[in-house]
Amino acid sequence: MVEEYPRDLTELGANFSTEEACRSYLERLRWPSGFHCPRCGSRKAWPVGQLWECGGCGRQTSVTAGTIFQDTRTPLPVWFRAMWWVTTQKNGASALGLQRVLGLKSYQTAWTWLHKLRRAMVRPERDLLAGRVEVDECYVGGLEEGLPGRLNLQKALVVIAAQEDGPGIGRIRMRQIMDASSESLMPFVRESVAPGSIIHTDGWPGYAPVAKNGYRHDVTILKGNKQTASQLMPRVHRVISLLKRWLLGTHQGAVSRKHLDHYLDEFTFRFNRRKSTSRGKLFFRLAQQAVMVDPTTYDQIVHPTAKKGKRKPQPIVVT
Ligand SMILES: [Zn+2]
Repeated sequence: MVEEYPRDLTELGANFSTEEACRSYLERLRWPSGFHCPRCGSRKAWPVGQLWECGGCGRQTSVTAGTIFQDTRTPLPVWFRAMWWVTTQKNGASALGLQRVLGLKSYQTAWTWLHKLRRAMVRPERDLLAGRVEVDECYVGGLEEGLPGRLNLQKALVVIAAQEDGPGIGRIRMRQIMDASSESLMPFVRESVAPGSIIHTDGWPGYAPVAKNGYRHDVTILKGNKQTASQLMPRVHRVISLLKRWLLGTHQGAVSRKHLDHYLDEFTFRFNRRKSTSRGKLFFRLAQQAVMVDPTTYDQIVHPTAKKGKRKPQPIVVT
């Protein structure tokens, strides 16, 4: 599919004001080479109301089944406005902000939507960072030095990788970790950075196995060094400071540890696309990923301990 997205709010309103228009857009994203039956693979199908009925086996399929829009009772144009709002605001949206903009009656609905959308902000097969990458950990939560306000968050440890792009920052990755041991740090490094890259860290022993894992390890010992950590690893520290400001600003510190990882995903999604020439492209990317990730219910969001395993095929039949 050619990247197709509204350029501004007027175009969003003009192109996606009806259920049919939104459905048709989601169909082009989900089946870029045309509908094919999830059961028998047949490409012969005809529309029956809002469903596709397969000419091969008779199965009826909905474009929203098995996506984050599954079972929604809200019209799709409202969802599209939510996606637009979340992707076009420089700092994203809080649940309260989204509730106001969409005129939703319930705060919980806005909160749940944002959590569903955050799950579509991680690309399943995302590229690894490469080249020269700064890696460091930081605590978020509690009283933040130099920032007004307090994160309503028990202190949580977050590890961040920031790719160098000349003097600037390329793409980033981040994750909450239990502790700063090698056992916690190394899986993050391996899953975030391509082998053969240069990993730049401080002298913390948790990073000692970096070289054994197929990377070049550039260590800067901070102790006794006149420069501060933020001068020696400026990119990763710039990201940390932006992350903390975002959690305090847009979300006013109201982020719990249980949900922190999803907020980190949202921050990363937006940060890695900050130079995108069009905000509409972010909308496109989010919509595209929204039809590729599994549905999540409010219960699954609130009780994430009942962990979902690997992506299982979701029932796509609607009868
Ligand atoms: Zn079929």
